[in-house]
Amino acid sequence: MTGPIALTAAEIAAATGGRVVSGRPDQRIERWSIDTRSLGPGDLFVAVRGDRFDGHDFVAAALAAGAAGAVVTATPALPEAGKAGPAPLLIQVADTTRALQDGAREVRRRSGAKVVAITGSAGKTTTKELTAELLSAKYTVFRNRGNLNNHIGLPLSLLELRSRPDVAVVELGMNHAGELRTLVGIAEPDVRVWTNVGDAHAGFFASADAIADAKAEILEKARPGDLLVANADDEWIRARAGRFAGRTRTFGVSAGADYRASAVRHRGLDGMAATVTTPRGDVHVETPLLGTGNLLNLLAATAVAVEMDVPLGVIAERAATLTPAARRGELLRLPGGITLIDDSYNSSPAALKQSLETVGASTGSARKVAVLGEMLELGAHAERLHAECGRAAAGAGLDLLIAVGGDPARRLADAARAAGMPASTVVHVATSAEAADVAREKVRPGDLVLVKGSRGIRTDRVVDRLKVEFG
Ligand code: ADP
Repeated sequence: MTGPIALTAAEIAAATGGRVVSGRPDQRIERWSIDTRSLGPGDLFVAVRGDRFDGHDFVAAALAAGAAGAVVTATPALPEAGKAGPAPLLIQVADTTRALQDGAREVRRRSGAKVVAITGSAGKTTTKELTAELLSAKYTVFRNRGNLNNHIGLPLSLLELRSRPDVAVVELGMNHAGELRTLVGIAEPDVRVWTNVGDAHAGFFASADAIADAKAEILEKARPGDLLVANADDEWIRARAGRFAGRTRTFGVSAGADYRASAVRHRGLDGMAATVTTPRGDVHVETPLLGTGNLLNLLAATAVAVEMDVPLGVIAERAATLTPAARRGELLRLPGGITLIDDSYNSSPAALKQSLETVGASTGSARKVAVLGEMLELGAHAERLHAECGRAAAGAGLDLLIAVGGDPARRLADAARAAGMPASTVVHVATSAEAADVAREKVRPGDLVLVKGSRGIRTDRVVDRLKVEFG
C-alpha cells in the first residue's frame, strides 16, 4: 500500500449510504472540499449546509473550478455548459454533513493511522502540539490545524489522513452535549486524552457536573485495546474515568498518578522543571514552557508518547526545546528592552493564577507589569473569582496592574488595591485599546509585561501595540 488513499465514487456512496446518480462509479477521489475558494482540480465538493450558506448553491461553481464531482442531497440544476463534457460525478445522500463525516471515517479507517484525540476545557491545542512533537521522534505524525475541531473541522482533518501518517493527533472541541459523542464516532480514537474539566468553569458547581458529563462522552464507544490518558488531579475526571471500557493511564501531581510530576520547580521565565515518574522509570524534565498548566500538558503528552514507546531520554530531550503555541504563554523579548509574556489567547482563574505564579517566580527584570483582561463566562461567580485573581496579582509583586473589561475587571483591580498594591499602580480601563494606550505610556525598557485575558476582551491588541512601540 503506497501512495495516497483514493476512494472510488462507488466506495464513497457505500460509506455514506448514498447513490451515484451521475458520472462513473469507478471515478477515484483523493481530495474532498467544502469550499469553492480553496477547492482544487479533481476534488470532490461536498455541498454542506452551514448557518449562512448552503453548499448546494455553489455546486456549479465547484464544477466550473475543476471539481471532479459533488456530494448533494438533491440533484442540482447545472448550467448547459456543464453538459457538454462527460456527466459530472454526483453522489446523492440524505445529509451532506453526515456524508462528510462518514467519508472521513472511511479514510481514517483505511489510513491505518493511530488516532490520538485530545479533549478538555483548557490546554487542548497545547497538548495536541506537544503530543505531536514528542511522537514525531518515532512516527510520521499528522496534527489538525488550528481549531478544525468540530463536526465539520474534524472530518476535514481526518480526510488528510489519505497520506497515511503513522499517527494523527487531533483536538476535539465541545460546545454542547452530544457533540463529543459525534466526534468520537467519527475519529474512532485509539488514544483519548482528557486534560481537565474543572478549570474554566470552576465557578459553577451545579453546571460543572453537567459540563463534566458532556465531556465524559470522550469515554464512549471504547474498544478494549483503547487507551485513556486522564488527569488524576481533576476531581470531575476522577469521578468519571472508571466508565472507560479500555485501559486507563493517569497523569498529574497526585499520589498514585501513573505519570506523576514531583519536585516541580518554577524557573520563572526559563520555564518549568520536574521529575516525572512513569511506569518505565523516572526522568528529569526541563522545559521552557511557562507555568503549571503547561507542565501538566507536557505530562499528558509524555504519557501518550511513553505508552506509544517513545523512549524517556528522547522525551526529555524534546521537552527542552518545546515552544508554546501562538499567544499561549509565548515569551517575546522586544528590541526596545521589554520582555513580554503573550498569554492573550485565553484566560480563566486557574490559568491566570498560574501565569501570575510565573511572573512572581521570575527574577531579573526591572519592574513587573500585568495587563489582565476580564475572564468571561464565569456566571454568578465572576466577581468572587476576579477578586481572588486581584489578590493573586498583588501577591505576584506587580509594580503595575492594568485591568481591562467590565465590572469584574474593576473588581479585580479593587481587590488588588485592597490586598496592598498602591492605588497609583492599579488602573482599570474598559477596553483593550485603552489598555494599550496606558501600557504604551507606562511601560519602560527593562519591564516584564504579562498580557492575558479572555479571547473576547482582545488583549492580543495590547501585545501587538507594544510590539510596534517597542519592537
Ligand atoms: P484550548 O485549545 O483548550 O483552548 P490552549 O492550549 O489553546 O487550550 O490554551 C489556552 C489557554 O488555556 C492558555 O493560554 C492557558 O491560559 C490555559 N491553559 C492551557 N493549558 C492549561 C491547563 N493544563 N490548565 C489550565 N489552564 C490551561
